[in-house]
Amino acid sequence: MTFERAVVTGGAGFLGTHVCAELLRCGSHVVCVDDFRTSDAGNVRGLLDNPRFEMRVADVIEPFDVPGTVDLVLHLACPASPVDYLGMPVDTLRAGAFGTLHALELALRKNARVVVASTSEVYGDPLQHPQRETYWGNVNPIGPRSVYDEAKRFGEALTTAYRRERGVQAGIVRIFNTYGPGMRPDDGRMVPTFLRQALAGEPLTVHGTGDQTRSLCYVDDLVRGLLAMARSTEPGPVNLGNPEEVTVLEVAERVIAATGSRSAIRHVAPMADDPRRRCPDIGLATKRLGWWPEVSLRDGLRAMADRSARPLVD
Ligand code: NAD
Repeated sequence: MTFERAVVTGGAGFLGTHVCAELLRCGSHVVCVDDFRTSDAGNVRGLLDNPRFEMRVADVIEPFDVPGTVDLVLHLACPASPVDYLGMPVDTLRAGAFGTLHALELALRKNARVVVASTSEVYGDPLQHPQRETYWGNVNPIGPRSVYDEAKRFGEALTTAYRRERGVQAGIVRIFNTYGPGMRPDDGRMVPTFLRQALAGEPLTVHGTGDQTRSLCYVDDLVRGLLAMARSTEPGPVNLGNPEEVTVLEVAERVIAATGSRSAIRHVAPMADDPRRRCPDIGLATKRLGWWPEVSLRDGLRAMADRSARPLVD
């Protein structure tokens, strides 16, 4: 199924750029709505050559419209890396609340399918393992990270209300840590930080002991899952992530191996409310969307290291 005209909020960001490129490849017209607050206009430079790509610079916290027909809204706009959301806590909450409201209103006006990007962070520091969609989570509502976690939890509640009360064809995906080419080396997330440090020959900084776990999904797999969700009528929430669970220390070692770096590993202070374990149960995505990740961590890290010096869209 090809969408005729898709709106991607946050389309200039890491995931958004890959999603826009894939939608264009599938033949859709794509309208990217972004104010570049955590990205760069340079990210979409390669896409602007495509006559089916349209860039609208707008803040989704304010009401926005897209003239013409729209059959898909993908709502990705939200500061997503800790460096970004800790630096703009109020706007992160406003993006989760008003940004999601405006994306849902657009879908309502256009009678379009809408998929809202939520996060594994809604599970907080989970007491159930692996995390299944039926788990309600363990979130500190006033900790520093709460601005992101609670913004996403509110976004889920709002999306569900629009589906139930207003009949919007809305779906929620809970995205687990995703990595790949196009991430900002300084965005503070684990993989680009390790990669930047390894390529510069600096020590890789591991917070705490490093035995906390993460599950890392390669961006191509994630985009395939997101579009499978868009093409379905599933309400979600559906977990999208790679269930290959590794410790943070192992990730650091694998980045060193993938880059051939001689960097050492340095332990630094643990982060506040850092989850101990993170691993998706993807049974629902497999059953309802026929989706599962295909790229191993080793191959994904190698691909990212190989492409880190080149622009995303040539
Ligand atoms: P990103 O920071 O690279 O991209 C976010 C984009 O949204 C940026 O281009 C930014 O400029 C834009 N944006 C933010 N606030 C905006 C606003 N008010 N108005 C207009 N544009 C705005 O982050 P990403 O990794 O691409 O994440 C995309 C979405 O996926 C986010 O909603 C994030 O919460 C979710 N997500 C990502 C991951 C991951 O591992 N990458 C994991 C879980 C959830």
